[in-house]
Amino acid sequence: MTMNRKSPNVADGFSSHYLPLFWERQRQQWENYTHNTHHDLNTIDSEIFSLVDTHRKLLTENTINTHLMKKIVLREWIEKHPETAALRNKLDDRGHYITGSMPADPQELARNIRLDVIRLMKLRNKLARSLQFETYPDLMLFTEDLSQSGLKSFLCSTLNAYLPEAHAIIKHRNIKWTTWFDHLERMSSSVLHTVDDIHLSLWRKMGFPNDGNIKIISKQQSIHGYAGILNGARDIRILIRPVKTVHGVMVFLHELGHAAAHSMNRSQGLAQLWSAAYDETMAMILQLLGCKILLENEMYQQTLEIGCLETVRCTLSSLFEFKLWRSPENGNDLYKKHFSRLGVDIGDDSLWVLDSFRSIDPVYIYTYVLGTKTARLVLQKLETIYQERYALWGKWLNDRFYADGWLRPLMVKLREAKIDIPQLSGKAEALQHPDRP
Ligand SMILES: [Zn+2]
Repeated sequence: MTMNRKSPNVADGFSSHYLPLFWERQRQQWENYTHNTHHDLNTIDSEIFSLVDTHRKLLTENTINTHLMKKIVLREWIEKHPETAALRNKLDDRGHYITGSMPADPQELARNIRLDVIRLMKLRNKLARSLQFETYPDLMLFTEDLSQSGLKSFLCSTLNAYLPEAHAIIKHRNIKWTTWFDHLERMSSSVLHTVDDIHLSLWRKMGFPNDGNIKIISKQQSIHGYAGILNGARDIRILIRPVKTVHGVMVFLHELGHAAAHSMNRSQGLAQLWSAAYDETMAMILQLLGCKILLENEMYQQTLEIGCLETVRCTLSSLFEFKLWRSPENGNDLYKKHFSRLGVDIGDDSLWVLDSFRSIDPVYIYTYVLGTKTARLVLQKLETIYQERYALWGKWLNDRFYADGWLRPLMVKLREAKIDIPQLSGKAEALQHPDRP
């Protein structure tokens, strides 16, 4: 290993400027989503862009050996680029595209939004190419230590494994694509627990510390579930609708999974931050473990059925997305081709542009599939080693995943915890930035 004396200073200096901006943006985004404030994110985005742009040239010099800083600079240079930020932030407020009265007609909204969604995809691809990556997904997966080919082969084998069961559920329950999420609610029994009951009961059983750093806000009129990490482990908030069904429990446990991982992260500096794959994998793990620990068997079986449907939907969405990055103009045909595999009528094929994973959270939906697979392997392992001693499950998660945050990336943590996903393991070391030896 070559020591480079300059690097710690570069990284420390970057961290002390970047972190306050990052937390400030998290706060503004949280307030926009939860209090309907209208912070103009372009302002903070342009400050972040200026900072990473001054560090961009370091990427091609041999002065950065801190992997976290490099990953942050790569992804932020594209996402906070003035052109990307302007389009992304515009798309994040659908009010910009609605001319008539609310609620908007989906077809009309899709027509109005389409050009900007495609323009944003092409822009991200163009900026990624200027950083020597073939496509934007290649850059994003590089920051996760994943390769596109390995990930695609994982997604295809997941689809093959889950699709027959999903077909049977769809047929048995007569599920329609246009009302997919309503069906998930209807498949669920009612539950009577409050969100505080669920949180405290799970934390007690898993032996998690209750430091009072997680604030739960339960509101009827809110987005389904959202975890805001506003200042590392010090300030974590969850916005959630009151939990009334088994599906509602799943959503809440998912957000608690985000909260758990961040609240027990003891790192300083950039390792307080995270990658998408790490964050969603931690959420999916606690979602599954929480269902297993808290729910009676009949309800737990419902969560497995819902999980199967959602895994197939997210897998198809990921495979569709990777094709889409290569030819966004063919979105309608690709959408129809992929989602028809559910065996349902998918209706108007122009509506794909309304999915926020095509613009606001690009190259993200695959993380739910990776998270689900990881969660199942973790559950199997913990049941084998510790049976129903849940406090040991909690300690295992804390030691293997939470405590050091982003210091060890997800793929390294999985390897060291002996969670083996054959198509993805072994890739981490092989990946190199294209212009690096
Ligand atoms: Zn999540």
